[in-house]
Amino acid sequence: MIHEKSLIRPENLKTHDKLVIDGVDVSGHWSTFIEPRVVTDYNERLQEEIAALPGGEHVHRCWQCGSCTNSCTVNAVNPDFNPRFWIYLIRMGMESELLRDKDIIWQCVSCNKCTYACPRDVFPEGVMKATAHWLELKGHTPKSKSTIFDAEFTEQVLATGKIEDGRVLRNFFARTGQPLMQDWLVEMVKRVARRLPVLQGLKMGLAAVFRPRTKGWSKAQAAITEYLSEEEVKQKKALNLE
Ligand code: SF4
Ligand code: SF4
Repeated sequence: MIHEKSLIRPENLKTHDKLVIDGVDVSGHWSTFIEPRVVTDYNERLQEEIAALPGGEHVHRCWQCGSCTNSCTVNAVNPDFNPRFWIYLIRMGMESELLRDKDIIWQCVSCNKCTYACPRDVFPEGVMKATAHWLELKGHTPKSKSTIFDAEFTEQVLATGKIEDGRVLRNFFARTGQPLMQDWLVEMVKRVARRLPVLQGLKMGLAAVFRPRTKGWSKAQAAITEYLSEEEVKQKKALNLE
């Protein structure tokens, strides 16, 4: 049962401008009805599909207390952002209803307030991530900047066993079509440069040019690559994707 009025779609609310029942005038909002609807397009595997993605593993534990939504940073500014409601839809298999909010689910800022508030260890933040990922894998939304950043980060770790922040940012901007010279970035670099010890600055400069690798990285690289491709196969199978 959904109690929040904001969750009733306006098109499902019906009123009669002129209605008299047994001599009682119930015109206008006194005769507001919620139109009954029959859901026929359940995805009975929706919960399983979300649970197959990183972060979504514990979605089945939710008992709908609403603490996640009550504590949510994004919900405080956008009441349509409602983790409890989406977890409800996932558990019920109501895919088409979930898709109506596909363009705002990615807005989760990963503050994890919901995770700390949840009495059932559902990890709602993880479920939001898994749901956003599910939307991308199923082709309902384009790849988000967050996914593109994760891909760039992972590729760099895999290649060298190290992270070089400047390279991550440069490549991320290039992949997302953003200019490198952004005011906030220039300001940040200036401030960091002012406080950075000379030796540290030198090391960073050399790392940017020569791209050092972690010693003996090849074995770890092979193991991580194998693990990632196994996970990808498992996820695609769970989501019934080619
Ligand atoms: S992690 Fe996401 S869903 Fe959880 S409280 Fe923060 S913004 Fe809301
Ligand atoms: S706080 Fe946890 S148990 Fe409560 S509605 Fe949110 S996910 Fe479900």
